[in-house]
Amino acid sequence: MAECLFCKIAAKEIPARIVHEDADVVAFEDLNPQAPTHVLVVPRKHLATLNDLGPQDEAIVGRLFRTGAKIAHDRGLAGPGWRAVMNCNRGAGQTVFHIHLHVLGGRTFAWPPG
Ligand code: AMP
Ligand code: ZN
Repeated sequence: MAECLFCKIAAKEIPARIVHEDADVVAFEDLNPQAPTHVLVVPRKHLATLNDLGPQDEAIVGRLFRTGAKIAHDRGLAGPGWRAVMNCNRGAGQTVFHIHLHVLGGRTFAWPPG
């Protein structure tokens, strides 16, 4: 989608600190990290919110989470623990309307989230 920030990052039209990329997903450091590790994993396919997922997107959601788990593992977070967050729509805190998995780690997290 032409005016989407994360589509542009995936296409390398806007710079980001990319930590993983493949045919389906791109992962990059969050610009405003909320934990020592704060990586965003996005599909190359533009999907505005989780509400837009169809049956054809089941594999891509799996890819987001498996990529997040690999990044967490590679950073030594698998044992200590890490948090996966996906915000859906403004009331839940979504500010960029291209779905993304937040991979957060390196500190302890409260529950319930704010
Ligand atoms: P959300 O609020 O769940 O939509 O998350 C959007 C995330 O994107 C926030 O954590 C922002 O800090 C992050 N963000 C916004 N712009 C950029 C950017 N240009 N590069 C990397 N992360 C960004
Ligand atoms: Zn997009």
